[in-house]
Amino acid sequence: MEILKIDHLGIAVNNIEDGKNFWTEVLGLQFEGSETVEAQKVTTAFFPVGESEVELLESTSPDGPVAKFIDKKGTGFQHVAFRVADIEAALEELKEKGIQLIDQKPRIGAGGAKIAFLHPKATGGVLVELCERS
Ligand code: ZN
Repeated sequence: MEILKIDHLGIAVNNIEDGKNFWTEVLGLQFEGSETVEAQKVTTAFFPVGESEVELLESTSPDGPVAKFIDKKGTGFQHVAFRVADIEAALEELKEKGIQLIDQKPRIGAGGAKIAFLHPKATGGVLVELCERS
């Protein structure tokens, strides 16, 4: 597969309003606004960093994936997202290699990107997201 770059780093927070201060006030990153993706029970906020971004994730519901992650592991680093040229081809390649996937097919994430997650069991414990943006 063709990985183009690290698209973003996902960081789980209890509350974006409180959580964003470190990134903006201390590090001086620009807050690009937030977006709620109801299907994934998450509100995301993006902070561009050079060619990549920091993505803060706040759960909109106690049973959402980000809330479950925080219950288990606490707030902090949650996933790394790689930008790929062709997400369908990348997923096919991973299936052929027997890699366990959370998403068998791409779904639509924040910003209209096509995204899919690999299972941390298949990656040595890191939640890996693939994303394709047009
Ligand atoms: Zn992400």
